[in-house]
Amino acid sequence: MKNFRKCVVCGEVKEKSGLFRIARQKTGEILFDQQGKEPGRGAYVCRDAACRGKLKKARGLERSFRTRIPDEVYERIEKSIHET
Ligand SMILES: [Zn+2]
Repeated sequence: MKNFRKCVVCGEVKEKSGLFRIARQKTGEILFDQQGKEPGRGAYVCRDAACRGKLKKARGLERSFRTRIPDEVYERIEKSIHET
């Protein structure tokens, strides 16, 4: 199951290729990891518009990273995902 990850919005477990990765770096910075190669802890969201558009609404990253995440961070990530 090593190539499977859970979407932080819908909770479904999928192959990594069907998910976007969001990374939390050691510095605490949270960013959209387009290549899936950034170090640090990762959280995943489905590539479907339904899930990736609900990232902020679902507050899924808070649970995954166990930290408070400001709206601006969610907005920045949603915007970067939207532009891919
Ligand atoms: Zn999902």
